[in-house]
Amino acid sequence: MAVERTFSMIKPDATKRNLTGAITKMIEDAGLRVVASKRVWMSQREAEGFYAVHKDRPFFGELVAGMTSGPTIVQVLEGENAILKNREIMGATNPANADEGTIRKTHALSIGENSVHGSDAPETAAQEIKYWFADTEIVG
Ligand code: UDP
Repeated sequence: MAVERTFSMIKPDATKRNLTGAITKMIEDAGLRVVASKRVWMSQREAEGFYAVHKDRPFFGELVAGMTSGPTIVQVLEGENAILKNREIMGATNPANADEGTIRKTHALSIGENSVHGSDAPETAAQEIKYWFADTEIVG
């Protein structure tokens, strides 16, 4: 297995409930390393750009509203099989379908307020990391 990097976000529904540390601990306990991290309050334009792939979906307006409603922690995670591993510890998009012990089962409120984001493939990981971080901000 190769060491790889993925992009992760702790969404506003979670930062508002003071869960930044609890969620980061679940990520670290799974063996992933936080190699970049910052707290941002997304603008409308940043949220729309980040989620552009969903722009024609019915939930897009609600998604952008949620993502601009408070601070988000954007992170780069590093580890063996980091992309798939992070998706596993996040759990299913809808927390009602998420496995026990996952971040979303433990902390998410609903499909719209589901606490975390994680890249789903190597191409999206590279794009999403570049969207939020300069190379110099990532310290492995
Ligand atoms: N989302 C939503 N309603 C839906 C589907 C998705 O509000 O019916 C939101 C949800 O916050 C999700 C995000 O849009 O995390 C991106 O959706 P995606 O299918 O990419 O899920 P993810 O990769 O986050 O599990």
